[in-house]
Amino acid sequence: MPEINIAKNAGFCFGVKKAIEIAEEVAQNHKEPIYVYGQLVHNEKVIKDLEDKGIIFVEDINEIPQNAVTVLRAHGEPGTTYQILEQKSITKGKNLNDATCPLVTLVHNVAIKLKNNGYEVVLFGKHNHPEAIGTSYHLRGKGTFIVEEPEQSDLVVDYIKNNNFEKIAIISQTTMSVYGYKKLIDNINSKLNDIKFEEIPLSLKDLSQKYGFVDTICNPTKQRQSGTEELAKASDIVIVVGGKNSSNSKELYAKCREIGVEAYFIQSEEQLQKEWFVGKQKIGVTAGASTPDYLINDVADKIKDIIHGKKEGFAEIKI
Ligand code: SF4
Repeated sequence: MPEINIAKNAGFCFGVKKAIEIAEEVAQNHKEPIYVYGQLVHNEKVIKDLEDKGIIFVEDINEIPQNAVTVLRAHGEPGTTYQILEQKSITKGKNLNDATCPLVTLVHNVAIKLKNNGYEVVLFGKHNHPEAIGTSYHLRGKGTFIVEEPEQSDLVVDYIKNNNFEKIAIISQTTMSVYGYKKLIDNINSKLNDIKFEEIPLSLKDLSQKYGFVDTICNPTKQRQSGTEELAKASDIVIVVGGKNSSNSKELYAKCREIGVEAYFIQSEEQLQKEWFVGKQKIGVTAGASTPDYLINDVADKIKDIIHGKKEGFAEIKI
C-alpha cells in the first residue's frame, strides 16, 4: 500500500509564525486599516487570508499613509525603512509593530561587528531577497558583494584578488542551503593558494583571524533541510510545497533533485498531476518556511484522493 510521509520540520518556521500572529493580533485590535510593508510570507494563499482579515499589503513604502498602524515582516529591514516610516510618524512603541525575526537581527549584528572589526564582508544570499537587502544595508548597502551560488566562487576569488582587503569574512542569508554554503567555501579555498577561509564561531569572541566564514544559516532552516534530505532518500517522489518566490522552498526542491529523487515544486494542491504518482509507493511531502500546515495537509489529502479516489486505506506517517 502506498504511504505518504511528511518531512520533519516542514512548513512555517517560528519567525514566520510569529510575524503572522503579530499581524493578526494587530488587525484584531484596530478598527482602522493595518498596513504590512512587503510580503509577510511568500505564500499567495496565506496573504489572501490575511487580506480578508483587513490587512493591506504594500510593496511601495510610499503607499503607507501618514500615521498608519504598520507591521514589518520577519525578514529584517534596512535602516532606511525605519527612517522613512519615522517621517510618517510611524514609530516603535506607538504604531509600528516590528516582526523582524530575532535570528535575522542576529545576522545583522554579526555583519555590523565584523565590519567594525575591519572585515570586508561578503554575503552568500540572493540579491533581491528582502533579508539580503536588509543585511547589506549594514555593510556596503548596494555595493555589498553578494554571491548567490557555490558555482560563482570565481567571482569571490576575483573580488579578493583585485582588492587589498586586510580581513575578509563570509556570512550567509539565514535561508540558504547548508550544503551550498559549505561547497562555496570549499570552492573558494581550492582556488586560493595562500588564503584559507576557516570558521569563525558565531560568538565572534576571537576576531583575530584574517579570513573566515560565520555560519549564520538559522537552525529552523537547517532542521528543515535535514528533514527533507532524510525524506528524499527514503522516497520515490517528493512534492515540495512553497510560494513561487520562497527562497528556502526552492532550496528544498534543489536538494531533492540533487539527491536524485523525482520531485515537483508546487504552490497548492490544484497543481498535482495524476501521472506523477503512477507506480509510486513512497510519497514524500515537504514544505518551505512560508507554507502553513493546512496547505501541507491539503496536498497530502489530494494525493490520497488521486491515488485511491478516496481517503481511506492509506497509511500516512509523520516522520
Ligand atoms: S527562516 Fe529562520 S531567520 Fe528566517 S524567519 Fe524563519 S526562523 Fe527566522
